[in-house]
Amino acid sequence: MSIEVRNVSKNFGTFAALTDVSLTVATGELVALLGPSGSGKTTLLRIIAGMEDPDSGSVLLEGEDATTQRIQQRKVGFVFQHYALFRHMTVFDNIAFGLNVRPRGLRPSKEEIRDRVMRLLRLVQLDRMADRRPAQLSGGQRQRVALARALAVEPKVLLLDEPFGALDAKVRKELRRWLRRLHDEIHVTSVFVTHDQEEALEVADRVVVMNEGRIEQVGTSEDVYHHPANPFVYNFLGDVNLFHGRVENGQPYLHPGAEGEGHALVFVRPHLLDIQHEPSGEHSFKARVTHINPAGPVVKVELISEWGQPVQVNLTQERYRELRLQKDASVYVIPRELKAFIE
Ligand code: ADP
Ligand code: MG
Repeated sequence: MSIEVRNVSKNFGTFAALTDVSLTVATGELVALLGPSGSGKTTLLRIIAGMEDPDSGSVLLEGEDATTQRIQQRKVGFVFQHYALFRHMTVFDNIAFGLNVRPRGLRPSKEEIRDRVMRLLRLVQLDRMADRRPAQLSGGQRQRVALARALAVEPKVLLLDEPFGALDAKVRKELRRWLRRLHDEIHVTSVFVTHDQEEALEVADRVVVMNEGRIEQVGTSEDVYHHPANPFVYNFLGDVNLFHGRVENGQPYLHPGAEGEGHALVFVRPHLLDIQHEPSGEHSFKARVTHINPAGPVVKVELISEWGQPVQVNLTQERYRELRLQKDASVYVIPRELKAFIE
């Protein structure tokens, strides 16, 4: 089922939580809403679900105006950050709940419910946990139960609000890959809220970057990471160094004291800066190494530029060894690629 959000605005008192938001999600797509805390992600998700009414604008599901439909009519499944499982019920009963509470005429038979729940348990790889209670599961397992429960009623749309937000980093990473594989299998139209850029970029077909109740950019991971629409998106989607500079003949230059006409904000991601012992090219500048963290796939080098600005450079392990870099060394930083936004 496709989702279309048309010119939706929502205020809480005088506070504008959403301002003129429009978005289309194609059938079977997995879209991430990405933005800082308070940017309106949950509000937008709740409006799509029918848990909240927009002040203006509309929501279309499969091309039909659903703005006045209640949540029960919209056939959406919802998974929250905090596993809202029933503690006194087994895993099996938790997943079966949405089917068991249906009025008799609409309720599948006991055998059908059993088959469906067991199929879902296999899908979320918990088929041996059917008789456990939520307290006997890990956080990651509980979120998989919550997902199976949301899928049990065969929703046309799956809405996930920071589903892995309460889990530790390693489990989060496993679950996001798992969610991606699951979606490739079942293809239910899904909207996934997160404030974690890595999670959004890795999981989603398309990413919707939100800020202060507005959409800043919509695109594939590739689009938003490599072709950010504005400084906010560039900044939010990963570590970045921000310099003052100017643009001359369409070419950005670093220029620490730049102000006034031609002034531009120049952005460089840490992996697009190199370090050398000698100056090189017109963009290189002098800096002193203040900290080195060699643990990890890249070596993170912190420096302070000659005009006193902290700079972060990520080097490959090979490049780091080649340079024989030491703390307090005086070196030159060479940008390989500059991206400028003119103010
Ligand atoms: P996000 O999910 O991106 O963190 P939310 O959509 O939850 O953001 O909230 C956006 C803004 O709207 C926040 O500043 C929040 O305080 C405000 N807000 C959300 N729900 C309500 C509400 N029911 N009453 C008042 N303010 C709210
Ligand atoms: Mg939220």
